[in-house]
Amino acid sequence: MRVVRRYMHNALRNYNYLLVCEETQQAIALDPLDGEQMLAVAEAEGLTIKLIINTHEHHDHIAGNPVVQAATNAPIWAHESAQGRIPNQERGLVAGDWVTVGTMQLRVLYTPGHTPGHLCLLAESSAYDATPLLFSGDTLFNACAGNCKNGGNVDTLYETFVSQLQRLPDDTRLYPGHDYMKTNLAFALDREPNNDMARYWQDQVSAIEPDHMPIMTLGQERQYNPFLRLHEPAIRSQLVSHFPHLGQHDRDVFKALRALRDHW
Ligand SMILES: [Zn+2]
Repeated sequence: MRVVRRYMHNALRNYNYLLVCEETQQAIALDPLDGEQMLAVAEAEGLTIKLIINTHEHHDHIAGNPVVQAATNAPIWAHESAQGRIPNQERGLVAGDWVTVGTMQLRVLYTPGHTPGHLCLLAESSAYDATPLLFSGDTLFNACAGNCKNGGNVDTLYETFVSQLQRLPDDTRLYPGHDYMKTNLAFALDREPNNDMARYWQDQVSAIEPDHMPIMTLGQERQYNPFLRLHEPAIRSQLVSHFPHLGQHDRDVFKALRALRDHW
């Protein structure tokens, strides 16, 4: 499969994606915000949009649904617990469901925490694709985790991280819902000033526009993303200066990091 990514040039810094079957040129519109632009991209590339999927119900991930649906008749799928919050949602997906368009096969991960009805899509390695691809919506970002401010729950997000996202292979390529990489790397370095990989990537992306941000792997994220480095003694000891009563559990570290990032 092929991934077409478009940066939305909006204040929330969204990415929109078309997931393309290279054999049939059929596509999934993932989290369309600018429906007109998604249609224009599909037309320019000779693609037929067969399906709309929303990782979750926030407005900036569904606002383009009506325009795309009106032009393509594509059904709208999202997690079953988003039903009632996304207009015209036809199917409620659950963990373990497979989404098939052309030769593309994507597995549904139920990944609550940012919202109660959040899903991720995972393209596992196959005859068509050597490396797995994760479409993470607003759960896992480059160098950060999603916030829990608008209907989310940080304990639930922690569970999603440790029980699912942390377990994915190192070579998994990460496609998040927003570009916050520069800000998040600055936050990561503030937590771990001696993290050479965080500094290396901060240098690498400093002059890169969001349209051209690199696609990172989970193996790379594990080298600098504090939310994937909960065991790191440097992170823990530095957090104590902000949270003198920080507990010993990974969950305590995750929640402290998220609380700090909320106001950073
Ligand atoms: Zn969101």
